[in-house]
This record gives sequence, structure tokens and C-alpha cells, in this order.
Amino acid sequence: MKILVINSGSSSIKFQLLQLPEETLLCKGMADRIGVNNSQLEYKTQAAQIKETLALNNHQQGLQKIAELLLDPKVGVIQDKSEIAVVGHRVVQGGSLFAETTLINDRVKQEIQAFADLAPLHNLPNYAGIVVAEQLFPGAQQVAVFDTAFHQSIPEVANQYALPKKLYTEHGIQVYGFHGVSHQYVSQQAIQYLGLKQSKIITLHLGNGCSMTAVKDGQSIDHSMGFTPSTGLIMGSRSGDLDPGIIFHLVDKLGYTLDEVNNLVNKQSGLLGLTGYRDLRDIEAQVGQGNRDCQLAIELSAYRIKKYIGAYTAAMNGLDAIVFTAGIGENSQLMRASVCTDMDYYGIELDQDKNQQKSEGVQEISSGTSAVKVLVIPTKEELEIAKQAYALIYND
Ligand code: ADP
Repeated sequence: MKILVINSGSSSIKFQLLQLPEETLLCKGMADRIGVNNSQLEYKTQAAQIKETLALNNHQQGLQKIAELLLDPKVGVIQDKSEIAVVGHRVVQGGSLFAETTLINDRVKQEIQAFADLAPLHNLPNYAGIVVAEQLFPGAQQVAVFDTAFHQSIPEVANQYALPKKLYTEHGIQVYGFHGVSHQYVSQQAIQYLGLKQSKIITLHLGNGCSMTAVKDGQSIDHSMGFTPSTGLIMGSRSGDLDPGIIFHLVDKLGYTLDEVNNLVNKQSGLLGLTGYRDLRDIEAQVGQGNRDCQLAIELSAYRIKKYIGAYTAAMNGLDAIVFTAGIGENSQLMRASVCTDMDYYGIELDQDKNQQKSEGVQEISSGTSAVKVLVIPTKEELEIAKQAYALIYND
């Protein structure tokens, strides 16, 4: 079965075509800068690689162009659109309604639109991707895989804020969590690798957005992002955890508007705010040149992560493994070493040599005496979406 996975953002469409159950990647790519000048299209198969600049005015044109490449006599990987049996869509916010991957119908589309109140930057482009895919691939089943679904298992004790109850019951103000597809995929990989029936795992998704999940027996029981992705760890340009009193001070005393505070906290803070650089590779290069702010930013980020490891170990009453994933987690030896330093009380000991090696698949970087396994597992969100879509269609 060929499954096209679509991750539709505000100005981009990332895609992969996968063959299931073999889990073979047939092609992947991205239409970027949609609706902006000089849109980019990248397309890659085993045999071909294309990168072109063109005009893509909207998602319809972006996905149309992707479909043309899939069908292209020279570089294409299908002969007819009907070969695509399923289109799997990543949808960021499914509220409390969607705890599972779901076949898309008119009601589901309405709900995805309605949840845009909670995640306007994500759900509306996700919705646009679904509408366009329905038009372009009318014979395919459309499936929604929600980033919040994995976190629906978080118990009340961890998903409520200590605010007046009616904000929870009437207005849905609670922890929803994000990056669920990634946390689910790498935690399952870790459980398989460790061969454990019962397991206590902390997954660290460290990319531009950063989040951590406490995964007990395969289920998310706590997570560092909350009602929105703004909270928790220090990220590329988001502050993570913040005293809400700072917001009142910014507005009342320093004259910020609420839009400016929103922009400050989500787009100007985090690593960018601390150092002037958002990309950890730039920050690591600066550390090499003795830049103290950059060194401190890494220490602050690692310290925040360590605090969450402590909290989640307490929440699970134990810890079998921690898993690093995403751009920083998979690649930054420095960040991994900073997180694992002086954590022997928690049974975490890094093997410095293994931490410097890079390999495909699950990589164990803890020392032989470490009570807790430290793993690096590349996240494969598109594959997880395809697997979930495949399981849904087949189980029906
Ligand atoms: P996104 O959340 O946008 O999917 P990624 O998972 O691609 O982000 O992660 C992006 C982050 O990963 C950036 O901060 C980048 O600097 C970092 N990163 C990627 N490669 C490396 C590397 N080799 N060393 C250190 N950091 C890296």
C-alpha cells in the first residue's frame, strides 16, 4: 500500500511517499516559501534529486506540483494517482476529542477547523492541506494523525492547571502536549530495543521546538509543553517555562502590547534571545571561540532538561532509559554530554566515546555501568504517521 504523508505548514508542505508494510521510502521532499517570493521545491528519490525555484502561490499549487513530480515519466515513482491508497496528514491540535488516528470526514474536518482556536498557526494550514489533498487524490482515504493524541493518556493529576475549575471544564484550558508523533515513535523504538514489558522512559525531542515526555509502559503520562508549545524547555526562539508575572510587568511597566509579548516569548527568546543565534550549530561554533553567552545558553538549556528528568523520574518512580531525538538530540554531542553530566545519582552515566560516534538506528551511548540506558534514536515522524494510517485502514 502506498501512503503519501503530508505535513502542511503555513508556508510549506513537507511530504514523503512510503510503501507499507515494507516501510520503504519511495520519495520525499518539500514545497517551501508557498505564497512568498521564490518558492522552493525539493524532491528526492533513490535515483533523482530535484531542487527548483518557482512560483507557488498557495497550497493547491504546491501539492499540484508535488503530484506532477510523483507522476513524472522521468523522475516519478507512480504511474497513476490511484496508486496512492491513503494520504496521512499530520494535524497538530486534536483537543480532547481525538485520542487516536482518525479517518477524515466532514465532521472531522469541522473539528480540526474548530481547534484552530487553540492552535491557529498550525491547524489552519493542516486543514488547507487536507482540502487540497482531497481534491488532488479523490480516490485516496484521508487520515489525520494528531500530535496531541499520544498525550491524551496524561492523567488529570498532570494535565490540569491550578486555575479556576471552569476554565478546564468549560474552556478546555489544560495540558494538550505536542510532538506526540515523535515521542510515540522513539519511545516505541526504545521499548523494542530494551525488550522491556514494563518501562519507564523519558523522551527528549530537541529540535527548533523542544519537549520532553515521561512515557510509562508506552503511554505518555506527563509532558513539558502544555496548553500551547510555548512552555517547558528552552527552545530555538521560545523561552519555555516563564513566570506569568513577567508578562504583566512587560505590559504594565514596560509598555509592551500583548502581540509584542507573544512575539517576544515565542519568536525572540530561547537560544536566540540569550545569544543572538537560534541555530545550535552556530552557538556551538561560538562556544569554540570562547563566547560566554553561548556557553551559558547551553548550560541553561541542559539545566532545564535535568530538572525535568528529576521531575519525571519522580512521577514514574523510576527510570529505565532516556532517549535523545530530533536535530539537536540526534546530533549535538555537547548538549547530550551537558545533560548527562553529574546525573549519576539518577543512574545516568554517559560513555564519552560512544557519545561521539554516529550510527543509524538506535544507538546506546551510556556506559556499561549506567543503571539508566541513554539512547539516541532518529525520529521518523512521517514513517510513524504512515504506520498509524496503515494500521487504521487495515484494522477496519
Ligand atoms: P525542527 O523542529 O524545525 O524540525 P530539527 O529537528 O531539524 O528542527 O532541529 C533543528 C536544530 O537541530 C537546530 O537548532 C540545529 O542547530 C540543530 N542541529 C542540527 N544538526 C546539528 C549538529 N550537527 N550539531 C548541533 N546541532 C545540530
